[in-house]
Amino acid sequence: MAKSALVTGATGQDGRYLVDLLRRYDYVVHAQSRRAPLPGAAVDGIQWHVGDLTSGAFLERLIADTQPDEIYNLAAVSRPIMSWQVPRETAEINAFLPQNICELLLKHKPGCRLFQASSSDIFGDGFSERQDEHTHCVPKSPYAVAKLYGHRIVGAYRKQYGLHACSGILFNHESPYRPLSFVSQKIAYAAAAAACGLKDTPELDERGRPILSNGKLLLGDLGVRRDFGFAGDYAEVMYMILQHPTADDFVIGTGEDHSIQEFCELAFQSVGLDWTDYVSVDPKLIRKTDNHYTRADPAKLRSVFNWRPKVAFPDLVSSMVQARVKLLQDEMASKPRSSGMKLS
Ligand code: NAP
Repeated sequence: MAKSALVTGATGQDGRYLVDLLRRYDYVVHAQSRRAPLPGAAVDGIQWHVGDLTSGAFLERLIADTQPDEIYNLAAVSRPIMSWQVPRETAEINAFLPQNICELLLKHKPGCRLFQASSSDIFGDGFSERQDEHTHCVPKSPYAVAKLYGHRIVGAYRKQYGLHACSGILFNHESPYRPLSFVSQKIAYAAAAAACGLKDTPELDERGRPILSNGKLLLGDLGVRRDFGFAGDYAEVMYMILQHPTADDFVIGTGEDHSIQEFCELAFQSVGLDWTDYVSVDPKLIRKTDNHYTRADPAKLRSVFNWRPKVAFPDLVSSMVQARVKLLQDEMASKPRSSGMKLS
């Protein structure tokens, strides 16, 4: 009989790759979202469950009715900066939802396997050059504090009740599906827009300005370094972790780090442009509670699963830019007058 899986936050970046992967492996997929699936999201053979995960009644029905063999808990307030605006909601989703899922599994399906999307933000800044499963955690935002609670509580239920519950400590991972609110996608979009000859983009940033405004992309600290991976690779890792006979926690990262400046260089270079002509630093955009440096030590993941990332950093950046070029070209072809785009 086909296995079944429940994916929360299924319309997000990782949800899209994971749902697609599970369908390829012939799972019956139950996908949760607060809203109807986006056009273009893989929908064939997927059962969508639209509802609010903070509603105890909705969550209990979801688990009791679907009786999944595996749950991938991806739903989250996923931007640390946003978590300062909605700290209570962040705690409810990022911290208490994993605990509520564990409680409901004990009640309705104790044999179900759970993957919890934890985050490298739990480490905070710099106690070690690389972060692994044992690195000291000093979280700096409501997002990171709540993720640390979710991470630890999943481990506690595993030890106390023998639940097959695992946390993946995910380092940054990107793809063409990354929302535009993240810096990686802003850079990819700005490079694509510049390549298409735009000076002002139709898409706006959080301050209501075009992301590329008068030919310039404004960014904060270009020296921030991150371990950037490809979201499709990480969806495969999530799946592998749940297939392993022993439940455990794993750091999920490439082991390399790159600066925001390197991201800019590669993005603009991939469309034949020089990033210094387009990127400016705005000190107001520098965030004091963002981690300055992350780099995974994925030794455990490598030794247990012999895992290596398939997509290298330059290819990842270039694929994001190319996807944005295609979208912009399609948009410009379909509504050249009404799009509000200003061509240089
Ligand atoms: P994403 O694209 O932002 O997707 C997260 C999904 O969670 C959203 O699509 C949204 O779905 C749902 N969500 C957001 N706010 C919610 C709320 N208040 N209540 C319920 N659901 C909410 O994030 P992602 O990149 O796919 O990341 C997946 C998971 O990995 C998240 O838990 C994230 O924190 C974690 N993670 C990601 C990264 C990364 O670099 N991508 C790094 C570390 C950890 P609906 O709006 O459809 O409900």
